[in-house]
Amino acid sequence: MSGVVVKKKKLMKLIEREIKTVGIMIDMYCRQHHGGVTLCESCQELYSYARQRSLKCPFGEDKPACGKCQVHCYKPKMKAKIREVMKISGPKMIYSHPILAIRHLMVTRKEAPATGKRK
Ligand SMILES: [Zn+2]
Repeated sequence: MSGVVVKKKKLMKLIEREIKTVGIMIDMYCRQHHGGVTLCESCQELYSYARQRSLKCPFGEDKPACGKCQVHCYKPKMKAKIREVMKISGPKMIYSHPILAIRHLMVTRKEAPATGKRK
């Protein structure tokens, strides 16, 4: 059974990294567009929403980047917001957090599993 535990740990690491990446991007976006030192209310909401969605992703280890996912588990409003954040902050990640950015790009290239089609 220890194999399952190892798999789970690896998955948690992946998800944590994704949440961290998203958090940094939202942070950059908010500072640039909303001018605050800390996350404004709406960006805070977006972050906790994104975090929740990542934790609940049905794909587990095969999780594709949310942008490529076929399930579209984001509400339309949140999806529009996160897209905007990625568009603005994504390219900047290369300079400020190159390793996270490259990893993110690698995940983004991964196709969603076939089972990811809508039910
Ligand atoms: Zn904001």
